[in-house]
Amino acid sequence: MASHSTINKLCKSSKLIPLVISLFTIVVLLLSPISAAAAASTHVSDGLKNNLFPEILREEAVARLYELGKVSDVDGYLERTFLSPASIRAGNLIQTWMGDAGLTTWVDGLGNVHGRVQPPNASKKALLIGSHLDTVVDAGMFDGALGIVSAISALKVLNITGRLRHLRHPVEVIAFSDEEGVRFQSTFLGSEAIAGVLPVSTLQIPDKSGLTVQNVLKENLIDTTEANLSLLKYEPESVLGYVEVHIEQGPVLESIGLPLAVVKGIAGQTRLKVTVRGSQGHAGTVPMSMRQDPLVAAAELIVSLESLCKNPQDFISNDGSDGHCNAFSVKSLSGSLVCTVGEISTWPSASNVIPGQVVFTVDIRTIDDIGREAVIYELSNQMHSICDRRSVSCLMERKHDANAVSCDSGLNSHLKSAAYGALKRMTGEDIGDVPVLMSGAGHDAMAMSHLTKVGMLFVRCRGGISHSPEEHVLEDDVWAAGLAIQAFLETNL
Ligand SMILES: [Zn+2]
Repeated sequence: MASHSTINKLCKSSKLIPLVISLFTIVVLLLSPISAAAAASTHVSDGLKNNLFPEILREEAVARLYELGKVSDVDGYLERTFLSPASIRAGNLIQTWMGDAGLTTWVDGLGNVHGRVQPPNASKKALLIGSHLDTVVDAGMFDGALGIVSAISALKVLNITGRLRHLRHPVEVIAFSDEEGVRFQSTFLGSEAIAGVLPVSTLQIPDKSGLTVQNVLKENLIDTTEANLSLLKYEPESVLGYVEVHIEQGPVLESIGLPLAVVKGIAGQTRLKVTVRGSQGHAGTVPMSMRQDPLVAAAELIVSLESLCKNPQDFISNDGSDGHCNAFSVKSLSGSLVCTVGEISTWPSASNVIPGQVVFTVDIRTIDDIGREAVIYELSNQMHSICDRRSVSCLMERKHDANAVSCDSGLNSHLKSAAYGALKRMTGEDIGDVPVLMSGAGHDAMAMSHLTKVGMLFVRCRGGISHSPEEHVLEDDVWAAGLAIQAFLETNL
């Protein structure tokens, strides 16, 4: 823990490298005539700097993140949705940076921006690295952008040092056109098209103004139809794997004082809609003992959901007795289970009326798919007993299900050593084990897992805040991410 807090401080202040240089300079000054000492110190200082490339991996990368953060469809806050004018401008900017890094660029039939290097003697299987260029409404500037910018910066370093053309595999950076799903309420449009799992019916989904995905593509001179959508799909044989760098969007890395973590897997998710119906009535005339109040029932349901998800081991056993729990570990479930009620509405929603109906949503996430089913089963049992006791009717509907994705252990162990090496080189300290975290948020890696094995690296963000203008990543952490990707590419390709 001591070394963790040290690295945290060092990364925040980034004083270490000047410190190392100045100590070296003092030693050299003591040992040599002044002029020779000055020359040696300059040489060493440049050598150290060149090895760590702060001018590309930190200064330029951070400047690019800020530049991209200003590319918005509205004044005053960041919003860049699928193929909006700002997202086209952002794509153009990214394409320029890809070209600057020595990559051949193009835009595909779903607006994804690609940059590829095809070294002369490389095999056919390409490593894909990506993240998304779209944002939520009133977004932060690191979500998605950090993954794209750090990959381009790492490749730029390899290009400048002449190592790009000696890679044994092609490398392709992809800036996905849609991950957040803000415009069409359908996430992963870009990555699902490349993975070959985007349903053709998606092309006909309308946005708020009535324009369909296909209309919007056409407006941007992209002629993608039901007939040619499948051409966007990559063949699994042509791909080595997919790697994504992303901000953590949670507080764990900050709490342990480290800039990078490897992602074990991405949580599976279920979204439920619960409707509770009672007896609507006058707030002044119906005695408390005679009420069938669906809002109070909903409140009890929500509190019981919280207890269940805080301590699933108190409610669910894995002895196999209920037929659901024999294939998962309650311990692993406890470690990753999170449940949220984020939306609630009452009818008729008036201060002097006992509500007649309440509708609320439940979002359940865990890395353990079978455990998630066990939680839903237990929740449904609790719901029926609470609703029976309160004489209200309850209906639970499943609105969305996505299974968990496990990251590839091989890719993960390479990412882990790359992150470890990068942090050691930056700080000169042994930081101990690089942590392994679970992702509660969905990422393009989820869609790409249908095509190939995936690996992810998380980067610390301030306060764990994301999807907010408060989102922030330290400059040195941007540097650490770029250095780790550069190391990963150099040692594995
Ligand atoms: Zn994201």
